[in-house]
Amino acid sequence: MGVLKDRFGRQINYIRISVTDRCNYRCLYCMPEEGLEWIPHERIMTYEEILFLARILKDLGVQKIRLTGGEPLVRKGFFSFLGSLRGFVPGIRTVLTTNGSLIPQYIDEIARPGLSGVNVSLDTLDEGLFRFMTRNGNLGDVIDGIRLLTERTDIPLKINTVLMKGINDGEVEALLDLAGSHGAVLRLIEFMPLDDSVWSKDRFIPASEILQRLPGPAMWERMDNSSDHSSGPARYFRNVSTGQRIGVIEAVSHHFCQSCNRLRVSATGVMRPCLFSEKGVDLRPALLSGDAAAVEALVFQAVNSKPESYYHADTGATHMSRIGG
Ligand code: SAM
Ligand code: SF4
Repeated sequence: MGVLKDRFGRQINYIRISVTDRCNYRCLYCMPEEGLEWIPHERIMTYEEILFLARILKDLGVQKIRLTGGEPLVRKGFFSFLGSLRGFVPGIRTVLTTNGSLIPQYIDEIARPGLSGVNVSLDTLDEGLFRFMTRNGNLGDVIDGIRLLTERTDIPLKINTVLMKGINDGEVEALLDLAGSHGAVLRLIEFMPLDDSVWSKDRFIPASEILQRLPGPAMWERMDNSSDHSSGPARYFRNVSTGQRIGVIEAVSHHFCQSCNRLRVSATGVMRPCLFSEKGVDLRPALLSGDAAAVEALVFQAVNSKPESYYHADTGATHMSRIGG
């Protein structure tokens, strides 16, 4: 039974943990062109600390952990950490969010039991545009990664696309085809205003408009809210003719706060009650001292400070790569 309930009755059972702030890409919507200054290694949680935290969270009723970043696969020793997580915190569902570029290199490790879901971020199928959007990424690596994942594993796959007006908003149909041919679910994400130096209103496309851009817009029917696919911020739709599903993540234009079941932990060990809030609870000192009771108390503090909605959050400039998107 979960014991993490916030002041508004929401049960917290899902934690996103950023294992690194570092990344081999600098996506247009995530980082400034010149990149970010990487946080020094000593300020980043060690794998041992993350394992310790994960065990405490599981005991508090957390059922699912998403490992994210930055780019989780660039951190040294990531797969041996994943193996330890399986042994040390059995029964917790572990899922991964990755830009996919290093999947080909690590496919053997990924194919081992342990991951119950992988989300690959992919914003375009045009090589030049991909290079532009990621600031020098190679599209072929990600496509190979997606292919290998589907050929070599049965891990459920989602493809996440941030749509930016005038940049990649013409890609929906091609990405739907790619997702469909790999048995993956495509999720279209609203461009979120996390940092003014990156965000631009002119590039924002609201979910309502995204839905209008689906091929044959009238063919997509809303899926039942109670299905597993509908938990979290995405609204899912099914094509009545082909059966293909699609998710739309309306972080900006729609309230999903009411059903929010998650907390985030930054790579530096700060637990954030809300993606849009600057405020967080620093778990690091308690993690470093190995004091489980102190960690628990801080987790409760974070849960209790979860705002009712992002309208009530103290917003401020931040980057997904730092807080673990
Ligand atoms: N590097 C990995 C990746 O790209 O999948 C994991 C970390 S990344 C920060 C996690 C997710 O955040 C990605 O799907 C990315 O597209 C999304 N993201 C980053 N900045 C965003 C923004 N401003 N608006 C919407 N989504 C964003
Ligand atoms: Fe890196 Fe992911 Fe941010 Fe792109 S979205 S810069 S891949 S952390």
